Amino acid sequence: MTPYDASSPQGSRGLTDSFGRTVTYLRVSVTDRCDLRCVYCMSEHMTFLPKVEVLTLEELDRIASAFVGLGVKKLRITGGEPLVRKGVMGLFQNLGRHLKSGALEEVTLTTNGTQLAQLAGQLADAGVKRVNVSLDTLKPDLFRTLTRGGDLAKVIAGIDAAQAAGLSVKINAVALKDDNAAELPDLIRWAHGRGADMTLIETMPMGEVDADRTDQYLSLTALRAELESFWTLRDLAVTTGGPARYVEVAETGGRLGFITPLSHNFCEACNRVRLTCTGTLHTCLGREDAADLRAVIRGGADDADLIEAIRGAVDAKPKGHDFHIERASAPAVARHMSTTGG
Ligand code: SAM
Ligand code: SF4
Repeated sequence: MTPYDASSPQGSRGLTDSFGRTVTYLRVSVTDRCDLRCVYCMSEHMTFLPKVEVLTLEELDRIASAFVGLGVKKLRITGGEPLVRKGVMGLFQNLGRHLKSGALEEVTLTTNGTQLAQLAGQLADAGVKRVNVSLDTLKPDLFRTLTRGGDLAKVIAGIDAAQAAGLSVKINAVALKDDNAAELPDLIRWAHGRGADMTLIETMPMGEVDADRTDQYLSLTALRAELESFWTLRDLAVTTGGPARYVEVAETGGRLGFITPLSHNFCEACNRVRLTCTGTLHTCLGREDAADLRAVIRGGADDADLIEAIRGAVDAKPKGHDFHIERASAPAVARHMSTTGG
């Protein structure tokens, strides 16, 4: 395959939607598979997609590179668990050409950390500078329960390896009312103590899992108020164009983010779109809108056709999302986070 040239003339006009928002951030799910089964993300017995439905690494590179050509500056590789995808390091290495050319500012990764001890060095060599590691608890037994069988020690070793390789690490934790709420201050202190930022995520109603997600929902507004009873939180102006809002915790000196898709509207400044591992482009996390880019490329499209399909999908990006936990006994969006890429 000839690698797509991200400096092609079609890309000279950026990707702007009908509400004037410019898309500069693409999240790419490279697999729906995972070595863990987090209770809020997957059911215990998942049926994964047949291989033929999942984009090959070359197809993933082609679509991601077309976005880079259209002005996307930041790629986040996610999943499922991206580091269990066979050959994924080759994808990171290939995407590195866009970092070298300056077309792309950043390639980042969201991972559960189980493979990082082996792969952190290679990621750094490929030009990755930052990784998000999902970790909801520091208690080995609770970790095993929440992930249905995971080994906390592996993840900690992975975080150690990532930091030793010079990667900047952010810890992501999903806030779960019964399971980890009481432990979150300790987790934040631990992350900040080792020089890592921390982000708390509200549970989102996505995909069928075995639990009633309204039972697990913890409002981060309430959690923030609790943290403020013993810590000083100072709002930071930084915004990533996504649903995270950041504060600095005076007592730890670290940064803490709150991702509150259910209780706040963050759509006006949304700069991102998501590509599933099957090549479906979702321009809004909370809606069912979709463009099938796999059909486009497997139908023999040339790069101009692909760009036109991407532009058409972005042009139709909805104004806002529609999550409501009250209505979430059935998921608001049927697809799993592991397919969409969190
Ligand atoms: N396997 C990788 C990981 O765990 O980081 C990447 C994919 S995972 C789907 C991305 C993020 O989505 C994780 O931080 C995970 O905690 C979060 N997530 C999964 N299901 C969620 C849900 N229903 N609500 C909120 N966050 C969720
Ligand atoms: Fe796997 Fe990540 Fe989902 Fe957990 S949150 S089951 S690690 S994809």
